[in-house]
Amino acid sequence: MQIANWAGNHDITGTALVEARTIEDVQRAVADASRVRPLGTRHSFNDLPDTSGTLVTVTSIPAEPVLDEAARTVTVGGGTRYGELAGWLAGRGWALHNLGSLPHISVAGAVATGTHGSGDANGSLSTAVRGLEIVGPDGALRTVRAGDPELDGSVVALGALGVVVRVTLAVEPAYLVRQDSYRDLPWDALLGDLPAVTGAGYSVSVFTNWVDDAVEQVWVKRRTDVEGLEDDDVPDLLGVRASGLAQPLIVPTDEVNTTFHLTAGTWNERLPHFRFDATPSVGDEIQTEYFVDRSDAVDALRAVRAVAPEFVDALVVTELRTVAADDLWLSPAYGRDSLAIHFTWRNDQPRVLAALPSIEAALAPFGARPHWGKVHLLDAATLAGRYPRFDDARELVARRDPRGVFRNAAVERVLGV
Ligand SMILES: Cc1cc2nc3c(=O)[nH]c(=O)nc-3n(C[C@H](O)[C@H](O)[C@H](O)COP(=O)(O)OP(=O)(O)OC[C@H]3O[C@@H](n4cnc5c(N)ncnc54)[C@H](O)[C@@H]3O)c2cc1C
Repeated sequence: MQIANWAGNHDITGTALVEARTIEDVQRAVADASRVRPLGTRHSFNDLPDTSGTLVTVTSIPAEPVLDEAARTVTVGGGTRYGELAGWLAGRGWALHNLGSLPHISVAGAVATGTHGSGDANGSLSTAVRGLEIVGPDGALRTVRAGDPELDGSVVALGALGVVVRVTLAVEPAYLVRQDSYRDLPWDALLGDLPAVTGAGYSVSVFTNWVDDAVEQVWVKRRTDVEGLEDDDVPDLLGVRASGLAQPLIVPTDEVNTTFHLTAGTWNERLPHFRFDATPSVGDEIQTEYFVDRSDAVDALRAVRAVAPEFVDALVVTELRTVAADDLWLSPAYGRDSLAIHFTWRNDQPRVLAALPSIEAALAPFGARPHWGKVHLLDAATLAGRYPRFDDARELVARRDPRGVFRNAAVERVLGV
């Protein structure tokens, strides 16, 4: 059996697909199978979800959010899409600290790969996790809570510890975000003061094709509560004035599907680039992303720019975002404030695979870490030296799943277990 992922660049393999409607369904499916992989909303771009056994998805289990205002947490079904949870929270005056560009992804699938939004001080979405309920290899349900030394190894776990059925996330009071676009910021200005750009707002995205003298657009999402902005009070960015409505650069998509509005709106409608209540970008793309230490960011950008002529024909656009350092063992931002260098490619897998070696070679001196859910060529031999807690993560996977029920070729390749 094969099911196409969202982009259609990979057929996810398995002998059967169990669409669980209850946690007990998950427990039965896992106990009955010798090999299992959890499956979310299929928005990853590689073979991470594949199995020679049963695929188990929790996206049909009701979300049933439980808000604990005193503890400032919400506990929700792992298969819930961020957009659904965000709307539910916003309606009650609460918020998550950040969102990815697409609100259609599942919470458990996103945090399993270290999915992130942007912002110098914003950790990835995984850093909001305060607890997990996981169906382990024998079908038993266990809980890992904040304070448990295993939590930092269990959040970004690539599905290798079991099926996450409930997730507890930190929440904060709801806030408003306004979005402004700056066009044609010269590369020299960007590299001359990168922190001024990435720190210009709560969440900043820089879009470039690498080869022009200027980056095409910078989107600055500012929180109106912390930055005290009126509608017409928009600061310049390194001498560039804010321009009108941002033009969608990501993929050919109808502007109505995006969140490009200049006026302030609620956090859940401004932080993602795409609207939850509309069809997102068309799926005709492949994505790759590497994380470098922000102290290396300028050198890393120069290194990629030097090889850009080799890959630019395959590229739709690059997006640069920042992610705050965290303590999650397999997080691409583990222990270092990071710049995430993202590539949206044309949906042509051979050309993408041909483009990656020169980029990975250019970023090797900076110990770049890949986005686990996107296309890359790195394996455990290389990755081990780039994650200080790599051995701890491998030990946890081997101890929690000694028979390798949740193991597959991708997990073996990237973790070496
Ligand atoms: C259009 C688009 C935009 C994107 N934007 C961003 C972005 O802004 N930032 C970013 O960082 N990434 C982004 N991504 C990548 C995406 O967030 C990740 O690939 C994410 O893992 C997808 O979640 P999913 O639910 O689709 O997981 P899937 O693709 O279904 O699975 C991914 C991994 O998670 C595991 N998993 C899934 N469900 C569970 C579960 N219940 N328990 C345990 N493990 C589970 C799977 O086994 C697999 O290993 C984007 C992807 C697309 C297609």
